[in-house]
Amino acid sequence: MKAPPFAYAKPRTLEEAFPLIERPGSRILAGGQSLIPSLNMRLSSPQLLVDIGGLARLKDISLQPGGLRIGALVTHAELERSEQVRKHVPLLAEAAPHIAHPAIRNRGTLGGSLALADPAAEYPACALALNATMVLMNRKSERKVPAASFFKGLFETDIRPDEILVAAEFPKVERSVFLELARRLGDYAIVGLAGVADASGKRIAFFGLDSKPVLATHAARAKSVEEAKALLAKDLHPTGDLYNSPATKLHLAGVLLSRAWNTLSKPH
Ligand SMILES: Cc1cc2nc3c(=O)[nH]c(=O)nc-3n(C[C@H](O)[C@H](O)[C@H](O)COP(=O)(O)OP(=O)(O)OC[C@H]3O[C@@H](n4cnc5c(N)ncnc54)[C@H](O)[C@@H]3O)c2cc1C
Repeated sequence: MKAPPFAYAKPRTLEEAFPLIERPGSRILAGGQSLIPSLNMRLSSPQLLVDIGGLARLKDISLQPGGLRIGALVTHAELERSEQVRKHVPLLAEAAPHIAHPAIRNRGTLGGSLALADPAAEYPACALALNATMVLMNRKSERKVPAASFFKGLFETDIRPDEILVAAEFPKVERSVFLELARRLGDYAIVGLAGVADASGKRIAFFGLDSKPVLATHAARAKSVEEAKALLAKDLHPTGDLYNSPATKLHLAGVLLSRAWNTLSKPH
């Protein structure tokens, strides 16, 4: 199928972009790997696509005192290969190869994935586990939103219509585990786990189970893997999908938790 007709604009700066995204019926276009298929399937019909691909400020990865600030336009492939990401936030580099296939990873962006908030996507769960901060800008100001309040529901985030997600800030966390069960490599996850651990404890996020990624707060405080698996039923309330019942998903979450537990439990 073909996309419905739309106007197209490619601003060169953020200052040029804001008045465009404020127009009724406009939609931000980043890597286009989710938006363009949705247009072609006529699931959405924006009047104006604002292609932010020319905004150089959104393409940087920079080391800051607390961690890494990663621009919204950094692609999945760039994240996967970045030495800085591998060193300081390895969870993201471990997650990236699970996203789709190389052609999609070459164009799809971190910001696009976070803004879309697909419940089976890898980065939103990583952002939640890492306690990342989303950096949002409109023409007047910038605001920062923690991942836990950014993801609001099914494909729903805290981004306001006049805002662009310009970057995400990830604290340095060297101990992490990323695991995913999918029918084939590159498919969306049936269930996935993004876990990190530091001196303050474990943060374990699950995805593919609910309308948004979920932190397993009870399981993360358990003293043993058996206790953690038993507590998962308190943390997770999976919805089934076409192929897997809620009970199967909960079981698979326990399998992933068992596999991740030893790594996350090593002494610091
Ligand atoms: C066959 C296939 C398989 C896939 N498999 C996976 C997978 O396994 N896991 C996974 O996570 N993803 C998967 N994807 C999606 C892919 O990762 C996309 O790249 C990503 O979800 C969206 O990024 P994008 O840059 O392409 O965004 P776009 O498609 O350009 O935009 C997506 C949405 O986000 C908004 N948006 C984009 N950037 C911003 C911004 N900076 N600020 C505010 N709003 C913004 C857009 O308006 C749009 O609503 C798959 C895609 C395809 C086609």
